[in-house]
Amino acid sequence: MKRLFVRAMLALVSVALAAAVLTACSGKASDQPKIGFSIDDLRLERWTRDRDYFVAAAEKLGAKVYVQSADGNEQRQVQQLENLISRGVDVLVIVPMNSKVLDNVIADAKRNGIKVIAYDRLILGADVDAYVSFDNEKVGELQAQGVLDAVPKGNYFLLGGSPTDNNSKILREGQLKVLQPAIDRGDVKVVGQQWTPEWDASKALRIIEDALTANHNDIQGIVASADSIAGGAIQALAAQQLAGKVAVSGQDADLAAVRRVIDGTQTMTVYKPLKSIAGTAAELAMKLAKGEQPAYTSKINNGKKDVDAVLLQPILLTRDKVDDTVIKDGFYTHDQIYGAK
Ligand code: BGC
Repeated sequence: MKRLFVRAMLALVSVALAAAVLTACSGKASDQPKIGFSIDDLRLERWTRDRDYFVAAAEKLGAKVYVQSADGNEQRQVQQLENLISRGVDVLVIVPMNSKVLDNVIADAKRNGIKVIAYDRLILGADVDAYVSFDNEKVGELQAQGVLDAVPKGNYFLLGGSPTDNNSKILREGQLKVLQPAIDRGDVKVVGQQWTPEWDASKALRIIEDALTANHNDIQGIVASADSIAGGAIQALAAQQLAGKVAVSGQDADLAAVRRVIDGTQTMTVYKPLKSIAGTAAELAMKLAKGEQPAYTSKINNGKKDVDAVLLQPILLTRDKVDDTVIKDGFYTHDQIYGAK
């Protein structure tokens, strides 16, 4: 009787073991890893391109991708992340709306064995596995240098990005690195500075309208941290017949911005080859899903840990460089920029 019981127990244990092995094999990342791509805001042109490049690259590598846009709403992003966790994704790739509020949901992801990659924007105070971005300090330097080259002396307004985006702070650090000597010499006077919630063009428009009024239109340079808000600023300038007379920087090589650079209403933009960041992120995600060790180029502290990172190089885009950069890379066709003949 006792022997029978032991045998029955052994049989049960081996069935359970076999089931466990089967689950492990058929499980998570084995054949088709699932990746959740949580994007802050697909209403902005830049991110639609990141989505397209990322989905194409990840699918080519054999993954299934679920994309979500929080449309600039941090609570919605948390809910969408929870939803992706319950769908059983293997990796979360996140463009955070607010870099400081995702620690809990990320802890939850980690408890479920999910790897987490911060895409373009660092996530602070959270246990992220990797960070992939461009060198944002360099972007800020290029922006300030672009405005300074066009207007070496004058009154400047610093039009910052979203206050909840860690990049806004890094961009500003880069900008000030270049501007500080000119400020110290008295060549540049910063007459105002403001962050722009959600990087929103219409909010930027109002900020610059107010700045022009407060300064009786006596502003010669606007260091804008991205093309979306540069667009709003240039609209405000145009209303005062100042478009093209005030130097304005940008970032992203949005189509409208490249056209403005050619027209001369925007001084420069920064081209960041999005195919590279998306492709790098897709490869990282696949490696992490399969438990392989990716190659990183640096480490960045996010307040909780030193996060393994890959930082790509941004490229200055002025009017004379359009053909050699965005057109050469196929980021835009000639006709998209100059119009069909
Ligand atoms: C990105 C920029 C983008 C901005 C607004 C930043 O974090 O680095 O490329 O223009 O967000 O979406």
